[in-house]
Amino acid sequence: MRQSRIFTRTRREAPADEVSKNARLLVRAGFVHKEMAGVYSYLPLGLRTLGKIVGIIREEMDAIGGQELVMSSLQDPEIWKATDRWEQDVWFKTSLKAGGDIGFGWTQEEAITRIASQQVSSYRDLPFAAYQIQTKFRNEERAKSGIMRGREFLMKDLYSFHASQEDLDAFYERAKDAYARVFARVGIGAQTFVTFASGGAFSKYSHEFQTLSSAGEDTIYVSREKGLAINSEVLNDDVLADLGVSRDTLEEQTAIEVGNIFKLGTRFSEPLGLSYKDEFGAAKPVVMGCYGIGPTRLMGTIVELLSDEKGLVWPKSVAPFAVHLVSLARDAGDEVARASDALYEDLQKAGVESLYDDRDLRAGEKFADGDLLGIPTRIVVGKDAAATGTFEAVDRATGVVSKLSREDILKSNFNTK
Ligand code: ATP
Ligand code: MG
Repeated sequence: MRQSRIFTRTRREAPADEVSKNARLLVRAGFVHKEMAGVYSYLPLGLRTLGKIVGIIREEMDAIGGQELVMSSLQDPEIWKATDRWEQDVWFKTSLKAGGDIGFGWTQEEAITRIASQQVSSYRDLPFAAYQIQTKFRNEERAKSGIMRGREFLMKDLYSFHASQEDLDAFYERAKDAYARVFARVGIGAQTFVTFASGGAFSKYSHEFQTLSSAGEDTIYVSREKGLAINSEVLNDDVLADLGVSRDTLEEQTAIEVGNIFKLGTRFSEPLGLSYKDEFGAAKPVVMGCYGIGPTRLMGTIVELLSDEKGLVWPKSVAPFAVHLVSLARDAGDEVARASDALYEDLQKAGVESLYDDRDLRAGEKFADGDLLGIPTRIVVGKDAAATGTFEAVDRATGVVSKLSREDILKSNFNTK
């Protein structure tokens, strides 16, 4: 894509009312637009990165057998009354001209359970898992964490359906592994810990995926030795004994909850009448699990962790483009411009996602913008490069410079997969 054609621009200042580092940088780089507190629009560059994150999550959910669907955002009060969740203060609600109230979905256990109740009848219909990547609405009290806590945000919510607790337990472990792969692939694996949190009537614990960051809102206790953490909500002697960790080895840390997995048991299937007939024809409630990740929160977390004083720094896997080609041409028709255009075309042909800075700007401004946008590799075309055919490639994360020929560039693995 030619940078001269992108309608968004970079800016030196973030909105005065924006306090979070992630949103300040993302707004300055033109990745997101702040509509109001807790509400953001995703602009073309931001949507490319969000799309990469979503793509990784989708691949990992498909790999454990997840079937993608999309449910309505408008929610029927009836099913939420059946589970006693219609009165919660998290809802955005509205009323219909035709009479009656509806809500904007903030999670979707009730909806998927009712859908499943019309599809499942026998043990032969189980197990299965279904997921969506969909906008959620929550009337959050605080919205000071930028895109990490939206009042409107994207969520991947997967729900699993089983004939027995054992089958749920086995799937739950596979989902936990899939989550670990997601966080590793987006570049925050080393800082992300499986964290024991409060369970419910059906299991002692749920598990959160917590990423260490001073921008987090949660307090966790990390056991480096065991590679796990305990949410402060559940830290007590009983839990320590369960996990075989001693209190004096724990590190108190601030962290961001990037994902959460939970054994629901029959909490939703019983009130909503989701049952199956077993081998002997007896009706039994379906056993369920739910598994959430916030892709927009994840994007904010990556920014919090990896960006530096100059701007964003994207890992290859989620960068909006693999290569930032920067032309230092003085004139549209000069030798440098011709060499840049030719390399851009070659990159396009080779299928390398490239942002081409073909703007008529000073080198310093182009480099400052490049640092702000955070594309992993910058390739500079100046007079020398045009004359010699040797280009300078700069790694955004490390600053390491290498000299590459056109052939080197085209056979480098810049691709983001
Ligand atoms: P928190 O305690 O941070 O409010 P939660 O327990 O309410 O999170 P869940 O209901 O389990 O979160 O939602 C699943 C996932 O959705 C979370 O792990 C998080 O990644 C994401 N998420 C939740 N609330 C928000 C929000 N307001 N903005 C962005 N992402 C969110
Ligand atoms: Mg919440």
